[in-house]
Amino acid sequence: MNESKDLLISDQWIVSKRGPKNNIDPRKPYAWLVEKERAASGSVVDTGIIFLTNSECTFHCLMCDLWKNTTDYAVPAGSIPDQIEWALEKMPDVKHLKLYNSGSFFDIRAIPEEDYPRIASLVNHLETLIVECHPRLIGERCIQFRDMLMPQLQVALGLETVNPDLLLRLNKKMSLNDFATAVGFLKTHEILSRAFILLRPPFLNEEEGIFWAQRSLDFAFRVGVECCTVIPVRGGNGAMEYLRDQGHFSSPDLRSLEMVLEYGIGLNEGRVFADLWDLNLFSSCQGCFEKRAARMNEMNLNQVIPELVFCNCKVPEGSEMITA
Ligand code: SF4
Ligand SMILES: [Zn+2]
Repeated sequence: MNESKDLLISDQWIVSKRGPKNNIDPRKPYAWLVEKERAASGSVVDTGIIFLTNSECTFHCLMCDLWKNTTDYAVPAGSIPDQIEWALEKMPDVKHLKLYNSGSFFDIRAIPEEDYPRIASLVNHLETLIVECHPRLIGERCIQFRDMLMPQLQVALGLETVNPDLLLRLNKKMSLNDFATAVGFLKTHEILSRAFILLRPPFLNEEEGIFWAQRSLDFAFRVGVECCTVIPVRGGNGAMEYLRDQGHFSSPDLRSLEMVLEYGIGLNEGRVFADLWDLNLFSSCQGCFEKRAARMNEMNLNQVIPELVFCNCKVPEGSEMITA
């Protein structure tokens, strides 16, 4: 990657690179879906995801594009439970649900505490509830909400990378110690955690991207997360396109994601998933794309490492040195 230390990444700089937000209806979730996921019990279960329309996250992480479907103002009390109710009425019956609000569930500017009891009553027939939150916003409110819940609560936390310089440049406003403290707090209070880990954030080449994703998996399990999701980094928020044009960012190759997923499952420390959305963005070979996508889906669902896919396409530079 080109020299990039002179680039001053700040909230202001990140926001200045943005395009417009999407048109959204603040009374409805901007999307919902049901997907298969391997549960902690080992069975493959239908898991609902509701993408809640909420106010914009106050953090401005370099790689984040979730602001696109957010409002510029706080949504009124009652809006989030209304959205959950609306989506659950449409969704097939599920026992496992993710509530993603493009920010932090436990940020009172996003979801007021007065909404917790109604949210809990809407989800109390479930077995698992997963919400997302910035590690620095983990605290007493998690316990307050957990105490109203019947399902097992899991909180998804962005670890992103354990490369400390890079974590700083991602503008995450979090240290590795903040992350470990959040996981420890949740664990003490019988709340599970899941880590989001980035594969090849900006300023890394392919080899470094694989290396740091693997070290991030090591760290996440060491501090006590129950499962990890590896997310191949994509563009789409303006800042990433700028960095791509300047030679500071390239999306990872599909085979790197495959290798990191193999590595994570091989650790045998907990469930490891690869984020398979928009997977074709990361493949340059139509000859093996379908087979690799199916292989990764199998790894996600069964947490085993199937036979390799062989193809004549070029292996990403450096990646063969890392996985031995
Ligand atoms: S904390 Fe999460 S939602 Fe907020 S800007 Fe960072 S990545 Fe996006
Ligand atoms: Zn190929």
